[in-house]
Amino acid sequence: MKKKRRELDRARAVVYPDRCALCGNLIPYATEICPDCRRNAPIIRGKRCFACGLPQDDCRCKGHANFYAAVTAPFFYRGVARQGIGLWKFRKAEHSVIFFAHALASCILDDFSSVSFDVITFIPQTDRERAFRGYNQGERLARAVGERLKIDVKPLLVKLYETQRQHTLPWYRRSGNIFGVFECADCAFVAGKTILLIDDIKTSGRTLNECAKMLHLADAAAVYCAVIAVA
Ligand SMILES: [Zn+2]
Ligand SMILES: [Zn+2]
Repeated sequence: MKKKRRELDRARAVVYPDRCALCGNLIPYATEICPDCRRNAPIIRGKRCFACGLPQDDCRCKGHANFYAAVTAPFFYRGVARQGIGLWKFRKAEHSVIFFAHALASCILDDFSSVSFDVITFIPQTDRERAFRGYNQGERLARAVGERLKIDVKPLLVKLYETQRQHTLPWYRRSGNIFGVFECADCAFVAGKTILLIDDIKTSGRTLNECAKMLHLADAAAVYCAVIAVA
């Protein structure tokens, strides 16, 4: 039976060849990324600053206090990690989101091993934003991580109105751009919960912080963040 399945998988790979989750090039059967990307992936190693997610040697935040307890990420937002995130977000490469979800799950298990999460959530979109992309990509990522870690995923926040994309704005306008944009969707549920908030990229961290603030205003016990990559 197993042999039959392997044969079927190989036949499928001929018709739909596997592609590298980061660069999109063809790769050998049953691998996730190509040897070049494996060598060049900008993995964050060593002791981390949990306030900004960067290695302590690269930290520029000096442990700045946030509403979230800690943030972790497997990659720097550059090189093939950036390319892979683009592949997923703009070409909707499903194998890329699965690869990133696995990388995120490993990072969460390593860095938050002492934390017991009640629920996973994600950054919400307005209905129009969701309609534009066809679905909420952050939710897709969160659900893949939830499946891997066996933790329930729930939408706990709503986005009240549209904003300009944070990375298109100068730093001094970023806080104002998202201030008061999010609201807790289910305050009764959130009270007392330890929440894992998932997103794709952390740049200034203001969006994560604003969402963590709203969850704390609804009496969350703690909010931890995990993102694919830190800029
Ligand atoms: Zn590759
Ligand atoms: Zn830092």
